[in-house]
Amino acid sequence: MRQPCVLLKYGELALKGRNRGRFEQQLLDNVRAALHDLGPGVRVRRRRGVIVLSAPGRPGLQDELLDRAREVFGVSVVQPALRVDRTPEAATAAARDLARAARPDGTRPGFAVRARRRDKDFPLTSTELNILIGDVIRTELGWPVDLTGPEVEVAVEVDRREVFVAVERYSGVGGLPVGCSGRALALLSGGFDSPVAAHRAMRRGLACDFVHFTGAPLTGPSSAYKAYALARRLARFQGGARLWVIPLGHAQKELALAGAGSLHVVAQRRLMVRTADRLAHAQRAHALVTGDSLGQVSSQTLSNLATVEQAATLPLLRPLLAWDKEEIMAEADRLGTAEISRLPDEDCCSLLAPRRVATRTTPGALARLEQRLDLEETVDGLLAKARLLQVTPGRHEETGEASAVS
Ligand code: ATP
Ligand code: MG
Repeated sequence: MRQPCVLLKYGELALKGRNRGRFEQQLLDNVRAALHDLGPGVRVRRRRGVIVLSAPGRPGLQDELLDRAREVFGVSVVQPALRVDRTPEAATAAARDLARAARPDGTRPGFAVRARRRDKDFPLTSTELNILIGDVIRTELGWPVDLTGPEVEVAVEVDRREVFVAVERYSGVGGLPVGCSGRALALLSGGFDSPVAAHRAMRRGLACDFVHFTGAPLTGPSSAYKAYALARRLARFQGGARLWVIPLGHAQKELALAGAGSLHVVAQRRLMVRTADRLAHAQRAHALVTGDSLGQVSSQTLSNLATVEQAATLPLLRPLLAWDKEEIMAEADRLGTAEISRLPDEDCCSLLAPRRVATRTTPGALARLEQRLDLEETVDGLLAKARLLQVTPGRHEETGEASAVS
């Protein structure tokens, strides 16, 4: 037996004080979901401390397995490997062949063999295995042994039923498996910040659904298209998502007619949060997530953040609170959300936007303004008009939805 496979490792540190079994099960579920569309024949095996992916008979999938595994939250290391018979001979031959293939130009890097046995019931100790394999690579390929700073590390892992051998090692995205921290509802605008914030929340194990408020019927559909495209890009990190689109236009107008003035932006944000909070409760989510960053714009002063937060009963999480705009933009580029966020849109009729945004607000001032509307009825009305979209994951190559609205 000699089968190409991909090994997934997760950081032991991430597991400190956590329920390891749940973490592992969630990770396994998420890995399966991330590979689901590759069709039957993809195998996901669980070994102690390792997840093993393979696609017997479909060698062309090896790179795809590797790429997808690197994106699954909770995975800290990914290694393309060979799975071979559980004998010293098979392990040695696989190590030599992988090492040779890793230097097609014939250069001779310093190397070390690092064997470990998850199954102690093996004829050789780890040290004996290191020496056996090291000798073969040294004599047959002419590579010098370098135990302190090797350029190539040959990893040999003896398991109960097989041996895995790898010479390459890539870092995964890290974080925690989506779902193991609970569920959240992320407020997704068409901007750069909220998708990055949602991604950070997912990365810490929160399964996210999304809600987007449009200015409909006072504005066009562009912001909803963008929100959908963004949700689609983000959905691939958790195998799907739900997006609620809620037309806020009438309520925005009511706020303006009630004399919101410079409080308009904060009042509108409070209404979004209040509505999202109700929706989150109904969907059994445990938190809200926004893309707020302290002081980034005048609506995001500490007092405005506090005034908005007061409209929520659930914890309101702001993963980007201390991020600079440059850091957010760089991350949005990496995630592929920036190209979507860059498209023009309008989520509030520009005629309603006040000339000045109050930087210092109090919940009291907002409550007085809100008394002029029937808040409960407004929120009920918004929820009744919410449209639910099931979002399937979109991968990097596909930007069809984004160009459709440009
Ligand atoms: P973003 O780039 O995410 O739009 P921003 O810097 O433009 O953020 P604001 O417009 O003040 O900041 O919005 C702060 C947060 O409020 C957003 O990150 C998002 O979570 C939420 N939000 C704003 N507008 C909407 C909207 N139309 N629908 C849903 N959430 C919104
Ligand atoms: Mg915005």
